[in-house]
Amino acid sequence: LGLAKRTKARILQASTSEVYGDPEIHPQEESYWGNVNPIGPRSCYDEGKRCAETLCFDYHRQHGVEIKVARIFNTYGPRMHPNDGRVVSNFIMQALRGEDITIYGDGSQTRSFCFVDDLVDGLIGLMNTDTGVTGPINLGNPGEFTIKELAELVIEMTGTSSKLVQKPLPQDDPRKRKPDITRARNTLGWEPQVKLRDGLEKTIAYFRELHAAG
Ligand code: UDP
Repeated sequence: LGLAKRTKARILQASTSEVYGDPEIHPQEESYWGNVNPIGPRSCYDEGKRCAETLCFDYHRQHGVEIKVARIFNTYGPRMHPNDGRVVSNFIMQALRGEDITIYGDGSQTRSFCFVDDLVDGLIGLMNTDTGVTGPINLGNPGEFTIKELAELVIEMTGTSSKLVQKPLPQDDPRKRKPDITRARNTLGWEPQVKLRDGLEKTIAYFRELHAAG
């Protein structure tokens, strides 16, 4: 922010739906302040991102820094790291290896998955808005799925013989998540184009090659 102030740069803050914590309103709109545990295992990430938004808005108010704050919901696609532990990459790698598919909890928690190309278009759109547009703006795909549905889709699409197994639900795992993208629609003329099944097809193809290469 100091550098942006000195050089008069426009600065993007890649914020997150985690600022809403375990949300009590659904879908989440930008005016919602969130429900975040300040001392749990996710807190350094969640509160870190919330504090980053705070600093952006303070620099904007005090120094006129041109900020653009995007709240990024779950995103997936080719070039994810196979071992980063997130649900889409985990399920696909487990399916391709014929390993058990690990569902944390009963799999009834929901997420809304945005294909990476859509997300990038949204970010570029946000950076090209007029000076007065600061955000925060939700960027994500409002199509909501349970984790069990995602697992079943990956099993069907990969044709794997992998079975579902349950593992303990991590502490403070949000029960549900789905962006309200009215603001992005109105401000950027943006909405996601890629359906989960189509995005998964490309992502599975990527991980298949990676897996084949050893
Ligand atoms: N999850 C799961 N199995 C896995 C990895 C994740 O069931 O192997 C669940 C996780 O508990 C969460 C959801 O999938 O409810 C999304 O997890 P991820 O870490 O991808 O994203 P986040 O929790 O940050 O939304």
